[in-house]
Amino acid sequence: MSTKATSNKKKKKKKKSGAGTAILTVFLVIFLVGVITAGSVALTVLKDLRLIDFGDAKPVEDEVAGVDYLDLDNYITNQAKTTIIYAYDTDGNLVEDTRLHGSENRLIASLDEMSPYVKDAVVALEDQRFYSHHGVDWYGTARSIVTDLTGGQMQGGSTITQQLIKNLTGENKRTLIRKYNEIKNALALERHFSKEQILEAYLNTIYLDQGCYGIKTAAEYYFGKDAKDLTVMESAVLVSITQRPRGNNPIINYENNRKRAEICVYNMWAFGMITEDEYNEAMNQKLVFVGKKAAETELSDSTELEVSTTTTEYQSWYTDYLINNVISDLSAKYGYTSGEAWRMVYYGGLKIISAVDMRIQGIMDDVYTNRTTFADESGKEESEKIQSAMVIMNYEGRIMGIAGALGPKAGNRVLSYATGGDPRNPGSSIKPLSVYTPAIEGNYFYWSSRIPNYGITLADGTVWPKNYGGYTGSITDLKTLPQALAPSLNTVPARMLQTIGTSYCYAFLRDRFHISTLTQADNDYAPLAIGDMAHGVSPLDMSAAYAVFGNGGLYYTPYSYYEVRDAEDKVILKPDENGQRVISEGTADVMNHMLQAPVTYSNGTANGYGVSGFTTFAKTGTSSDNYDKWMVGGTPYYVCAAWVGYKDRQAININLFGTYPAAKVFKYVMNLVHEDLEEKEFEYSSDSVRRSYCTVSGMLASSRCASTNTGWYKIDNLPGTCTICGSRTEPVENNDPEARF
Ligand SMILES: [Zn+2]
Repeated sequence: MSTKATSNKKKKKKKKSGAGTAILTVFLVIFLVGVITAGSVALTVLKDLRLIDFGDAKPVEDEVAGVDYLDLDNYITNQAKTTIIYAYDTDGNLVEDTRLHGSENRLIASLDEMSPYVKDAVVALEDQRFYSHHGVDWYGTARSIVTDLTGGQMQGGSTITQQLIKNLTGENKRTLIRKYNEIKNALALERHFSKEQILEAYLNTIYLDQGCYGIKTAAEYYFGKDAKDLTVMESAVLVSITQRPRGNNPIINYENNRKRAEICVYNMWAFGMITEDEYNEAMNQKLVFVGKKAAETELSDSTELEVSTTTTEYQSWYTDYLINNVISDLSAKYGYTSGEAWRMVYYGGLKIISAVDMRIQGIMDDVYTNRTTFADESGKEESEKIQSAMVIMNYEGRIMGIAGALGPKAGNRVLSYATGGDPRNPGSSIKPLSVYTPAIEGNYFYWSSRIPNYGITLADGTVWPKNYGGYTGSITDLKTLPQALAPSLNTVPARMLQTIGTSYCYAFLRDRFHISTLTQADNDYAPLAIGDMAHGVSPLDMSAAYAVFGNGGLYYTPYSYYEVRDAEDKVILKPDENGQRVISEGTADVMNHMLQAPVTYSNGTANGYGVSGFTTFAKTGTSSDNYDKWMVGGTPYYVCAAWVGYKDRQAININLFGTYPAAKVFKYVMNLVHEDLEEKEFEYSSDSVRRSYCTVSGMLASSRCASTNTGWYKIDNLPGTCTICGSRTEPVENNDPEARF
């Protein structure tokens, strides 16, 4: 009533206005033009969709945009192809390493191999008119388009056929054009395939969280059952996941899932798919989830899944990482969703040439499985025992071996501490990357700069930080860079950081050393000076960063495969084997020498942990709460990062494991790795020189300086000659290799 009154009022007003008729005319013209345009668009669309026949259209193949890949037969065939990972054995022969999804382990199931309740459940929940429509639910589509045009989120209105297309194409953007293409594809698909084929493909491709694609995988994962044996409620639970896989995961968000599953069962009853007795039985079924344990350990990764391989043993930590590496590279290079890339790896018939070094991986597997070098904790549950992880790389980015955790491996693609599954605080092992290298590369300090062993004064007047063990140090106790680095003083890097500025150092970590787990919160004193970071770092990132000190300043992106070929034997992935210069050769040389101090100085924290018979550079790390222990370093052959700590983050008992358990396992593994290797030395560039410096001034020594030592300098950034010790200013050469540091 009130609406009518208002519009009458308006009309009266308009009649009074002289310009009213003119405006109305213009409006009418625009409206007519609009109608004609819309009409012709509509005709094109209808013709495109072949809902109307203009007479000239004879039945042709469906070549409407983008339907080529929707050949379901072909798709299913492709899905079933086994991917094989090859690797070079110790004699250099290419051998088969791992088979992903041999025919016995296909997780594709035909409709006959599924409980009949599954297809009823999915139709009842997702698309009640599935058997009567031609691929598109026009009412639902119109409603969702109106919602979209009026500013709401376009949603719903998708039939099972349309959802299948979404799953196959990975198209998820909610736009009108996407919707239009999806409708075209859905209609085309229905013209070529039966309802059963479409339903079967749909049930084999839906994502059901925890890395489960398809009902068969999910039935095994969640209920430990064959898809054939699923009950009414179990079927409802599984099909209820797909709308929001993580949000409706029955183990993690049981209530959400339950709501939807109950609607599903109710619909099944309402549509006469099940009897009232079956309905009641379903509602009262007590569900038992077997995937719970696995789910708890894998929460951090939504695409995690344990897939059985054809061998009874679990695949190596290396293969675990290799698969992740290939999936993410496929996504990055070809724009696949992680689900699509995952399906390619497991069903796409790929040939992957692993870059693993079987000898080194074998050593690591042996040491890590048997917990060698670690104190006996036999009274404890496996999950409560101390943990460790290690990555060994060469200096050109090749990952030689990976150990993701201590103890027997519990599955495939399980949580790996080595490759970023659970980053940990690096403690002092971050200092060479976050402070010392920026200091040398940016010409802020020299090797022999003398810096007080005393913290900086914070805004509240306190002096921060203290050194390990709670020592404050002294303002008059001046240290050179290697003197501060070797015993891992905290005070000196804090002072250096104050001079350099946190932003420069933070950018260094992020852009040059490619530490991938940084957050903006790490652009601060505690993270950069003493490695107290928001998330922490991974051994993989640390080894790749430290490799820069052994190869003259180049950063190589770590790679775990030499090549990936598709089913047609075409190379589809090859790692980037080119290094990127991130610091000058001079800086790399100076840092390499400086990082030998922790191993060679008598008070060095890595003293005694060098690799037998080989020059070793290394830095230890201990997080401030004593939760994490690190050793990162390298020989002329390999760079290695080792971490030790507890799964649930607790202080490491030093009485039991010693002060340096990470250094201990580092040395043990690296000694075995180097056992039969020929002598080799680091090569240094001509951009660095060894010079005598005055220990009083820290400048280059003159003949008047009574106390000298030697250090390494960039040739383009030498200190001046000492002017404190006397009047003469000519520098003295001291290239005596025996001179003490
Ligand atoms: Zn002097």
